[in-house]
Amino acid sequence: MAFEALRDEALGCVRCPLSKGRTQVVFGVGDPHADLMFVGEGPGREEDLAGEPFVGRWGKLLDRLMHDELGMDRRQCYIANVVKCRPPENRDPAPEEIEACRPYLEAQIDLIDPKVVVTLGNFAARLLLDTTAGIKALRGRPYEFRRGHLVPTYHPAFALRSGGQVVAEMRADLVRAKRLLGSGRGTPA
Ligand code: URA
Repeated sequence: MAFEALRDEALGCVRCPLSKGRTQVVFGVGDPHADLMFVGEGPGREEDLAGEPFVGRWGKLLDRLMHDELGMDRRQCYIANVVKCRPPENRDPAPEEIEACRPYLEAQIDLIDPKVVVTLGNFAARLLLDTTAGIKALRGRPYEFRRGHLVPTYHPAFALRSGGQVVAEMRADLVRAKRLLGSGRGTPA
């Protein structure tokens, strides 16, 4: 119920100006009891219309990689974003918008309590690892995170733009996540 209450609160949120331009709040999708959680950046146009994260072509790539490397679909994990409302013209979320929205993401992570969080792109990795480093430097290894681990990987939009090598690295990151899902919570990264 706590999760539903959080969702209801977020659906009426007016904590930042992004609320004025949204069609709907994109809170998240999937199983709130999942061991695996993905965190992206923020909804795009299609997500804003559908009310669900990663439904556009970047989502198709995410679904495919999830299926190929983890043998699961989006209903078996949980997918959320750093900001829950679409930034206009798909611009980057502003620091104030990220801070205003942060309590929702923190509470989602608290309640889901995943074994593994996979961050997609710079914004989620920097926020959750509290760093200014870029994704290229951060990825390639897991980090201890709360009661489990965090695996930073590229944003699917970057992978689609960049092609084979980056997609291959994303696949390797998901294999890393899978290995951690199969291990105990206390297992060192
Ligand atoms: N990009 C994101 O980071 N999240 C979405 O939900 C869609 C596109």
